[in-house]
Amino acid sequence: MLNDLAVKPPDPLLKIIKMFREDPRTDKIDLGVGVFRDDNGATPVMKAVKEAERRLVAEQPTKTYVGQQGDVEFQRLIGELTFGEQGRDFVSIQAVGGTGALRLGCDLLRDSGARRVLLPTPSWPNHPAIIRAARLEVVGAPFFDVATQQIDIDALIAGFAKAEKGDSIILQGCCHNPLGADFSRQQWEKLADGVMKHGLIPFIDLAYQGFGDGLEQDVEGARLFLSRVPHAIIALSGAKNFGLYRERVGALFVKAPAQTRAAVQSNLFAIARANYSMPPDHGASCVRLVLSDPALKQMWIEELDAIRGQMKKTRAALAAARINSIPMSRIGAQRGMFSTLPLEEAQIVRLREEFGVYMTDLARINIAGLPERDMERFLTALRAVTS
Ligand code: PMP
Repeated sequence: MLNDLAVKPPDPLLKIIKMFREDPRTDKIDLGVGVFRDDNGATPVMKAVKEAERRLVAEQPTKTYVGQQGDVEFQRLIGELTFGEQGRDFVSIQAVGGTGALRLGCDLLRDSGARRVLLPTPSWPNHPAIIRAARLEVVGAPFFDVATQQIDIDALIAGFAKAEKGDSIILQGCCHNPLGADFSRQQWEKLADGVMKHGLIPFIDLAYQGFGDGLEQDVEGARLFLSRVPHAIIALSGAKNFGLYRERVGALFVKAPAQTRAAVQSNLFAIARANYSMPPDHGASCVRLVLSDPALKQMWIEELDAIRGQMKKTRAALAAARINSIPMSRIGAQRGMFSTLPLEEAQIVRLREEFGVYMTDLARINIAGLPERDMERFLTALRAVTS
């Protein structure tokens, strides 16, 4: 009964956001929230997207449903952007953001008989919740040492033994949340051998293409990996690289042998139909318009280059800093918006209370929340709590 429901604890990040909002200090620094911010602390709508919206409002002929698969042309364009040629025969369906794509993929796995999903840890805190919501078991697979900021690929692959044939493993494609540490080409090759040896279905989560080294560079490893494995599920998000967070832009792609594609596609339709029936249109239409118009696409690429450039500059400043116990050069060399600092709870609390520096409870920092003017103050605070 509804009376029997217990109150759920709030999301830990929401607690930090509230504390930040209520902090009266004017020089506080917000490294908690996971959205890109420009040097003025704003997350503006990208110009290319604004123009696409203007055209949509002026020219969209109807608001009828988009169909079971969603916007097919959007999927073709975003698939090409991510996978290049090899994505052509992947099965796809539009999704309600990257999160919705992850959930669709987990439901598909469960319906195919999978029971477990290996989750390299630490990971994005929503991953375990999504996996469990699909009635699959989360099996943690430690792979990263926060103190040294290094990936232990052999430990990760050794963890594959904890799963059985037909189970899955989530691998982040680039700009890892919350670690910023990406797999090298060699590591992707080892991972491909490992999943094949153990009969695992890899599930690649790609939410930050273009935030690391470039649109093409960021997916080189994932493309190499995908070219080697017979089966794979891939969740894409357009939240970050198109700045379309609230419009819920996403898609799920599945690589499968030709004879299984019709079954995969129909199962995805059935899962979506019983859940939200049809996907939202607006964000996907914006992405379609941007990617199909060479001038708009160029404008978008330049805006994305600027976003990445800002994060790269911040990382370079972090790399040059010397902080007692933290390997800053490694953090500086990482990619995307996030890194996780080797800090204890007491240090995180002290940073917040004494210095007004806010990060998540697990010491994840959003690089994009650190404008140049705050850098020295942030480093001073970090030195103070680590000395
Ligand atoms: N995967 C990862 C690793 C993420 O960080 C995010 C967003 N925070 C997503 C997926 C999903 O993004 P969205 O649902 O907003 O598209």
